[in-house]
Amino acid sequence: MGYVCGTRDAELARKIRAGQDPIDAFFMGPQLHMLEGSVKVTPVKIEMDIAAGTFQGEFIWNNSWEAQAHVDEFGPQHDPVCWMLLGYASGYTSAFMERFVLFKEVECSACGTDHCRVIGKPLEEWPDGAEYAAYYEADAIVSRLQELTTQVDVLRSSLEEPRQIENMIGNSPAFLRAYQLVNKAAETNVTVLLTGETGVGKERFARALHQTSNRASGPFIAVNCAALPHDLIESELFGAEKGAFTGAHTTRIGKFERAEGGTLFLDEIGELPLVAQSKILRVLQEGEIERLGDDQTRKVNVRIVTATNVNLQTAVKDGKFRADLYYRLNIYPIEIPPLRERIPDIPLMVEAMIKKFSTLHNKRIAGITDKALQALKQYAWPGNVRELENLIERGIILTPQGDWIELEQFSLCLDGSTRSGESDIGLTDSGALEENRPPEQARLCDAFLATGLSINEAETMLLNEAVERSAGNLAGAARLLGLTRPQLTYRLKRDQNAGSERES
Ligand SMILES: [Zn+2]
Repeated sequence: MGYVCGTRDAELARKIRAGQDPIDAFFMGPQLHMLEGSVKVTPVKIEMDIAAGTFQGEFIWNNSWEAQAHVDEFGPQHDPVCWMLLGYASGYTSAFMERFVLFKEVECSACGTDHCRVIGKPLEEWPDGAEYAAYYEADAIVSRLQELTTQVDVLRSSLEEPRQIENMIGNSPAFLRAYQLVNKAAETNVTVLLTGETGVGKERFARALHQTSNRASGPFIAVNCAALPHDLIESELFGAEKGAFTGAHTTRIGKFERAEGGTLFLDEIGELPLVAQSKILRVLQEGEIERLGDDQTRKVNVRIVTATNVNLQTAVKDGKFRADLYYRLNIYPIEIPPLRERIPDIPLMVEAMIKKFSTLHNKRIAGITDKALQALKQYAWPGNVRELENLIERGIILTPQGDWIELEQFSLCLDGSTRSGESDIGLTDSGALEENRPPEQARLCDAFLATGLSINEAETMLLNEAVERSAGNLAGAARLLGLTRPQLTYRLKRDQNAGSERES
């Protein structure tokens, strides 16, 4: 800022004092500075030759406002502080001399002397000129500061992350109920069945159970039963001896053995084929497994946590799930609530997700706008926490560095469902979130827009229709339209005038 100010004053000085002795002309800068009350300038030495490009200057500054302001705010200083004034001197002289003349402050009243002293000479004549020149580059400091802020944020969030139990965030009664059940189970070795819709975060709850249990130092192994090919499930879970089946070239250790001393999480347990179900039942009853192609039984010490999003009771009725296994698994069921029952948790979750994903994508995000957050609270979340997470990640990728996540960044992501009875905000046909209208209103607007009538023509039509329906009774017509009688008369008259103008 100082440099730019100085540059502009130099242009002025050269214009106003053209033809004068250069040194006299030059002193307009210090004079302007004094007039502005910035600083009192006394020359100690000045040698200049514009044509030859030489400049040597030394000045005493008294009453620097900048030094004064610094001392008032921060007390006495170790280093000179008159940066703005120096910038001005450098900018002014550089513009005047048409080459970069750098001023340095060698004494400063902020450091205890009764005046400041500055010395100016061409940049090249300063041994450390290049280092100082960097301060005069546009935005150099600003962008560096921004870079550092981002780094600090990123480092801070990566430090904070491990302290909490991963993603277990919420205060809503529905969440706390489930969380308390998890905590109670953690103290024991009970087999836990997690139920709930897709995407509610059953694996997170399973991990939290593991992390708060006395098995926390042991492994946590997660298996998605639906993702495994049926013919591999058994070898994946229980292991297989070399040659147990075609393709078993080496001995494989199964997930049960890998989870020894820890927790085995079997997601989508309902998808398990019946053969594997009977083997799981055996583990639960006897605490032992047998690798495929092996007749030796092995003891395992594993806590089993299962999860399902299908109704296992129905599966039992349909003969797809063993009843005895179901009862064995269902000792301690915990229902993980859907996100639509945890609406109060959304702001906290969003905050944590923004932290997580901005670290992941190396972005600095100011936050989320109220409007966008409001929309997230109104949405029905058929895909639950996973859907919210995807949405926030996408929002962060789309949001410019340092900006706010806006409602617009969620468009096309939400499938249009809002929770019933709370439809202030919904989705347009194109998928964009926006304030919702009742359907009849939407139909009416569609019909109106399809007519191609202007809003004035439509108003005239409505006014006339109302008058006609009230058989010319203006008070009645006004009531129909929600107007006062004078308002109606005024509008009718205005329309008549406009009509007669058009006719003439
Ligand atoms: Zn100073």
